[in-house]
Amino acid sequence: DANAVWMPNEAGPTAYRVALLLYDMTEIHQLQQMQLDFVGNVSHELKTPVTAISGFSETLLAGAQDDPATRQQFLEIIDQESKRLAALIQDILALSRGERQFKAPQQLDVTTLIQQVKQPLTPQITAKQLKWTDHLWANLHVKTQRELLEPIVKNLLVNAIVYNREGGQVTVTTTQQGSTWQLQVADTGIGIKTVEQQRIFERFYRVDKARSRHQGGTGLGLAIVKAYVQRLGGKIAVTSQYGVGTTFTVTLPL
Ligand code: ADP
Repeated sequence: DANAVWMPNEAGPTAYRVALLLYDMTEIHQLQQMQLDFVGNVSHELKTPVTAISGFSETLLAGAQDDPATRQQFLEIIDQESKRLAALIQDILALSRGERQFKAPQQLDVTTLIQQVKQPLTPQITAKQLKWTDHLWANLHVKTQRELLEPIVKNLLVNAIVYNREGGQVTVTTTQQGSTWQLQVADTGIGIKTVEQQRIFERFYRVDKARSRHQGGTGLGLAIVKAYVQRLGGKIAVTSQYGVGTTFTVTLPL
């Protein structure tokens, strides 16, 4: 309210309120800019697979399908790019879901949840010959929203596998302390340089875009993790040594 800000005879408080107003505007502008950037990034990221799908199918229809080897190769690309598109849409929806209301929190056994999330990842763990160690706190029951906690665990476990080395190690630890509990996911993978460590939580930020794309990554996993952790009233921290490994620590209320 501009009139209220410029009330006379109130030199001190007026100055204070003007400063507050300007600060708010800067924050609103930054938010608007972030939203514009996000829409721009989304469009760009969606364009890449769509262009590939339409380009390769057009070429097939124009006659390339007559050659069996070319047909096979182009269909594989179309298949891969549609899967990328599906993953992207799923992650974009997950990010917007984080801003909506969720069902009431429910009592949940963390150990069971971690095992359920890990189970479908077993083929990737085996293929990479990873050593897996769990240090799971006995009887860790938390009151939380499963729809938020499950993607947090899943994205961290997937990254610990994907960015690991052949024959590497993954260690998952849960602990309870006072009114909070912690989930720690540690890997012996490629590591993250200090300058990159804060940026990895940004939407679409990847240290190595080619590597992430190759692994089917969308660049949104950690943005989803961070948004959901905040939504649950928790915190996330990362420690990493380039070329040695990375540890993500999530602290959440019980
Ligand atoms: P992506 O789909 O690319 O994996 P994320 O948001 O999950 O997207 O992660 C962002 C980037 O952070 C990744 O592209 C990768 O460069 C880096 N990163 C995430 N987790 C790890 C990890 N455990 N070890 C090394 N780098 C990681």
